[in-house]
Amino acid sequence: MTKTEQPSYKILFASSEAYPLIKTGGLGDVSGSLPLALRELRQDVRLVLPAYQEVLRQKGKIRTVAHLTLPPGRVRILERLLPGSRLKVWLVDCPPFFDRPGNPYQGPNGLPWPDNAERFSLFCHAVCALALDQAGLDWRPDLVHCNDWQTGLVPALLSRHPERPATLFTIHNLAYQGLFPEETFAALNLPWAFWSPQALEFYGQVSFIKGGLVFADRINTVSPTYAQEIQTPEFGCGLEGLLHHRREQLSGILNGIDKGWNPARDPALPRNYSSRNLSAKQDNKRALLQEVGLPSRKGLPLLAFIGRLVEQKGIDLLLEILPRLKELPAQILFLGSGEKRYEDALQRLARRYPSWIAARIGFDEPLAHRIEGGADIFLMPSRFEPCGLNQMYSLHYGTPPVVHRVGGLADTVVDTTPATLRDGTATGVVFDRPDSATLMEAIKRALLLYQQRESWQALQRHGMRQDFSWRRSARSYLALYRQTLSE
Ligand code: ADP
Repeated sequence: MTKTEQPSYKILFASSEAYPLIKTGGLGDVSGSLPLALRELRQDVRLVLPAYQEVLRQKGKIRTVAHLTLPPGRVRILERLLPGSRLKVWLVDCPPFFDRPGNPYQGPNGLPWPDNAERFSLFCHAVCALALDQAGLDWRPDLVHCNDWQTGLVPALLSRHPERPATLFTIHNLAYQGLFPEETFAALNLPWAFWSPQALEFYGQVSFIKGGLVFADRINTVSPTYAQEIQTPEFGCGLEGLLHHRREQLSGILNGIDKGWNPARDPALPRNYSSRNLSAKQDNKRALLQEVGLPSRKGLPLLAFIGRLVEQKGIDLLLEILPRLKELPAQILFLGSGEKRYEDALQRLARRYPSWIAARIGFDEPLAHRIEGGADIFLMPSRFEPCGLNQMYSLHYGTPPVVHRVGGLADTVVDTTPATLRDGTATGVVFDRPDSATLMEAIKRALLLYQQRESWQALQRHGMRQDFSWRRSARSYLALYRQTLSE
């Protein structure tokens, strides 16, 4: 289809966070990037978010565009632009629920807000009113794109309106389901018909995510492999039966990576480079080693890990093999924060072996860029990974990753074998079982490959040529919208 033939849809994109207004994780990145990429494909997109205190405090013109009377009371709809763009953002303003310090889901004490069910139910009711053009804004979407459990009630509520827009529900991480005690149900102003295992009930609790999984016209996840995996007991978090039942409407689309992750223009790097001047990476490596206090030794590869220090990311597997890794010709660098036991273990080892391992505990985005730009091999042994960003950054930065064949990792990294080296598709090392012995073998394999300079550079170059742009993802979403609307 040529550009002029491309249909233009009205899409209401509902999310509980969007960068740069508010972000706690990957959902914020997607919601801040995908709507913009869709606009570049000439789609008419509006983003809707709760009007959190942090959002209201940000610079930018805000005006009130509507008032809504919803079951729990009156709310205002505010309008502003997403910073740095022309994308209209509608903010659901209900001060008792959203005008608070802390993050969207937790109070300053680190515990979930006790009224999260009521807060996000109200948000969903407001999104539905906007979707049905009940706010008098004279804009009716063709499709509502919902994301994660905080928007799960939207497809359920809309299902009761014959003249409704189509609905798509995206699962960013099935492990978070929005489960609340049975007593909560009565406070949510939902039809009693929803209190059933065929609707929102999940083993005696209210499940927000089920609203999306049961009622949305289509469901997708953030990688094709994860879409398959969640239909099995190992990854399905108890929802595998429902997801398998809906398999005909379930698919996967990989996330893109932000334009800021580009080694040719990255301002965080001492030297910029592309696949044509990979040798510049050596200068970045020297600077990085110096920054983290590791001695520079010619020819010694630097392994790196960046991420949350939690079991999902396989940090325990890495810790288990560290004593044996020490015998191999390599240095290793960690950047992460998370569970204290892992933070402590890494810091202990870094103190004990300062010329071999360095650990930076905390969240440091510029350092993450310098690590991707300076390390030789990236380690990502996640147990499950809906999409994963770090492996894509690594490929893009010529830092071949060692990954577990799971979720988005399986979809983005091609294992190095004689055949994939020959046909030029190899981009990293992929292993099959999340156990320490298999991980150890995979790292040894990567270190051997690293010694074969020509093969290694072929891996680097091929990884750097992959297209992980948001434009590519947006095209796939557009095709999915088209399919959903044609049904
Ligand atoms: P997840 O969303 O499960 O944490 P992803 O790989 O999808 O994992 O995305 C993680 C993002 O957070 C990446 O952008 C990564 O670089 C970044 N990140 C994680 N931990 C840190 C850290 N300690 N410092 C800087 N960036 C981090």
